[in-house]
Amino acid sequence: MMDINKIREDFPILSEIIYDRPLVYLDNAATTQKPWPVIRCLEEGYRRHNANVHRGVHFLSMAATEAHEAARARVRDFLGAASAEEIVFTRGTTEAVNLVAFSFGETYCREGDEMVVSVMEHHSDIVPWQMLCERRKMRLRVIPMNDRGELLLDEYEKLLGPRTRLVAVAHVSNVLGTVNPVGEMIATAHRHGIPVFIDGAQAVPHMKVDVQALDADFYAFSAHKIYGPTGLGVLYGKKRWLEEMQPYQGGGEMIDQVHFEKTTYNVLPYKFEAGTPDFIGTTALAAALDYVESLGMDRIARYESQLLQYTEERLSALPGLKIYGQAAHKSAVVSFRLGDIHPYDTGLLLDKLGVAVRTGHHCAQPLMERLGIDSCVRASFSFYNTREETDSLCAALERIRKMF
Ligand code: PLP
Repeated sequence: MMDINKIREDFPILSEIIYDRPLVYLDNAATTQKPWPVIRCLEEGYRRHNANVHRGVHFLSMAATEAHEAARARVRDFLGAASAEEIVFTRGTTEAVNLVAFSFGETYCREGDEMVVSVMEHHSDIVPWQMLCERRKMRLRVIPMNDRGELLLDEYEKLLGPRTRLVAVAHVSNVLGTVNPVGEMIATAHRHGIPVFIDGAQAVPHMKVDVQALDADFYAFSAHKIYGPTGLGVLYGKKRWLEEMQPYQGGGEMIDQVHFEKTTYNVLPYKFEAGTPDFIGTTALAAALDYVESLGMDRIARYESQLLQYTEERLSALPGLKIYGQAAHKSAVVSFRLGDIHPYDTGLLLDKLGVAVRTGHHCAQPLMERLGIDSCVRASFSFYNTREETDSLCAALERIRKMF
């Protein structure tokens, strides 16, 4: 069992009082709160270890470089990647998708080719591929889902053909919470010789991920959603792809030799890391990964799954409340609407009652269209949330329902 009260002491923001009430933070799919080891790492980094990496001969620069590269090795271990060369630091999941859409697209995609995404993708995992399709005159094809929010795997396989260049799919939906069977989907694509990009933004904070066991060609996540700093993310890519792909951005770090006649590029992963990286952020990400692994990814998954079950039971008992996303395999995200009350009003009133949730289309407008709604309320959970917080959410919703 996890001692949640003790864990909560590691997150100073959780004891904030908002509108005279203790904060109930249920917006973890948007961003997670930071534990002391991460906050301290950021503070110490700027206070004691700040010097630019990779180009200094002085003590501080070498120490910063060592810490930054140790963080890369930490991410490699965390994802089970074969080598640190396959770990590219980005600004987040969004930049990782844009990087692959540009660099993979430049190298492998031609007019008339196809690209496959699912109906439940975040805009970050749609728009960069759409832009690629426009640039290259390609066709974007969409994997449909059933009413429970599960992808239709038979339909998926029918979309794969000789012109399919890449499949991009979320490991976990940020709205429905569906955990997609990405291992199986990757195996299917590979039978057709097609590589797969996995958007792992909503998966890595909640479950053990092993990119080699999944056989993913690309896997991306954001540091801020796994208790780490903002503005930082990771792209894992198999070496064979990264080596062949064109660089994404030009600048310092990504070069080998620069001459006006010709420039040659650096080795992996630096070829994809133009400019000064967020080297303080990467060490804080390593601290965040140490933190979650000290709790145990399996224990986190078990605890959050129990909390999800409790929350869904309690919410389902509220008259007029409809939950969107009932997949057999779900992460701790519950999206819903309360009767005819507009989700924006529900969210605003929940806020006044001390409960932070997200409302809107959740950067998934095509999914909203599929669900036949324009928006919903989303409560998303972390291992630091409690049943009492679910009770507070339900009591607040009950009050709102009566108000209307
Ligand atoms: N993909 C999914 C599934 C997400 O939930 C998010 C953020 O909510 C993103 C991608 C984009 O992440 P970021 O804004 O950190 O780049």
